[in-house]
Amino acid sequence: MNIRILIGLGLCLFSSHLLAAETGDKVIAKTSTSEVLAIGNAELAVVLGEKPSPAEKRATELLAERLKDRAGVALAAPGNEGAFRLVIGTLATSDKIRTFSATHKEVVALGSDGYAIAVDLGKKEIHIAGQSASGVVAGVGRLLREMRYQNGRVEVPSLEIAETPQMPNRGMYLWARKEYFGKPDQVDRYVEEFALWGCNGIGLWFEMGMFKNFDDPEAKKWLEIYRRLYATAKRMGMKSGLLMVMNDAYNTSPVAMRIKPIIGCPNHYLCPNKPGSVEQMIAWQEEVFKALPGIDIFNLFPADPGGCSCADCTPWPTHGYWRIAKPLADRIHEISPKTEIWVDTWHLNHSTFGGKDWKNLVANLDWSKERPKWFAGFEVGLAPHHGYARMSAEDRKVYNEAKQPLTVFPDISMWGNHPGMLVNKEYWKTLQAELNDYSPELMKGGWPYSERWNTDIASVMMLSWFWNSKKPVETVLDEYAVGYFGPQAAAARELLDLLDDSNKDPQRKEKIREKFAGLEGALPEWVKRDWRWAEIAKSCRLRTR
Ligand SMILES: [Zn+2]
Repeated sequence: MNIRILIGLGLCLFSSHLLAAETGDKVIAKTSTSEVLAIGNAELAVVLGEKPSPAEKRATELLAERLKDRAGVALAAPGNEGAFRLVIGTLATSDKIRTFSATHKEVVALGSDGYAIAVDLGKKEIHIAGQSASGVVAGVGRLLREMRYQNGRVEVPSLEIAETPQMPNRGMYLWARKEYFGKPDQVDRYVEEFALWGCNGIGLWFEMGMFKNFDDPEAKKWLEIYRRLYATAKRMGMKSGLLMVMNDAYNTSPVAMRIKPIIGCPNHYLCPNKPGSVEQMIAWQEEVFKALPGIDIFNLFPADPGGCSCADCTPWPTHGYWRIAKPLADRIHEISPKTEIWVDTWHLNHSTFGGKDWKNLVANLDWSKERPKWFAGFEVGLAPHHGYARMSAEDRKVYNEAKQPLTVFPDISMWGNHPGMLVNKEYWKTLQAELNDYSPELMKGGWPYSERWNTDIASVMMLSWFWNSKKPVETVLDEYAVGYFGPQAAAARELLDLLDDSNKDPQRKEKIREKFAGLEGALPEWVKRDWRWAEIAKSCRLRTR
């Protein structure tokens, strides 16, 4: 828990090296930990700038909602000055933030998407300055986690924090079909919640094989959901990401162009070595890309599903995948030169996909003078327990030596796909070690692969590491517990440790029963209203069967 870390750090930290937009959590100064701003009903006025961004307005609404939900505290009425003021904005959107930055140099020094929070107990003022819209939202999220919620009152500790994320692409990839997309309202809110944790991108896959063709009413419905989620993301200052499997096809695809079957790939996918098929796939992909305006990040996905086992497509990385990926990306780049285009290598380590042929793909993009202009870098699997997608230390070395930008596609759910909230500290530590085994100057972030609601803690874990890849698992769990369990954070934290799949305590069942019952009786209602508690309850039931 950060507040604890802050204790004992004095003004000695207020030195010039803090002004260089370093990444990670920086405590600028700490005067007292015993004093807080105690804010009652209708006492806090939020002060936005002269031209607030949609992210600032929405973050303010989310803040108002949370204060109301957790403490029954409303903001001061519009136009009312309030006993306390919360100034939110960027140098571009708020003159008050510009004035504030004259005496708070850390604001000017923030790196991309960073934020600074300063609480002035004397003036009864809080400032949240973001370097960007996404930074403002991350700052509001941080403040919401630092606040303590009482009945009819919220408390804000004395804070002076500046933080800049280590990596620029801090995304979440949402896949779970029915789980997520059957509940678009809840997913919409989930995207906003991720933004409060410093996430700055949402990735989705438009799976052609679910539909007859582009004009299938079902396909239109899905595009509508995607447009809505992307709009939500943009409003929060996030980027939109589209992952497309290269030889994906509608389920009525021309039979003559189809693949020779391969592990994990539906037969209606197209073989890129059949006459006319590459043109057909590019035309389909282009249609989808244009139907989703303003895609910031496009991922060329090779397999799982995908691939073809015919002789001409073998090995798949250089003889199949690349035959579609290259002309498709050329076309996407032509349509939208600003879109970042990443080459994913997920699953290519499997012998079915040519064993180590992916190294040739990497080598071609490393040394070839004809490397396409659009090439942003490689997306690599981060899946130590996945039989087909795991990478060895040797494999990671190949990428480090290629010296191209990297992002990761972390498997945060498949390792223990059981009902209820997933906790596995040992696994998470392995993920973190692998992430940190890539050269830090190459590593630009990624898209954790979220399959269900039960990956929530794992998602927060990965997002936290995109901000600071060295942050201990225990620290993130502390922050999560404080953020979602308020006054019962310590007990909830113990329960999470008991639910940890790597916990071998022989008394585990009894302890889970006891801890769960205690929390059921003690938790404030706002915790129990949150779907996260239901996921945890599900996990407790599974573990005590
Ligand atoms: Zn083929």
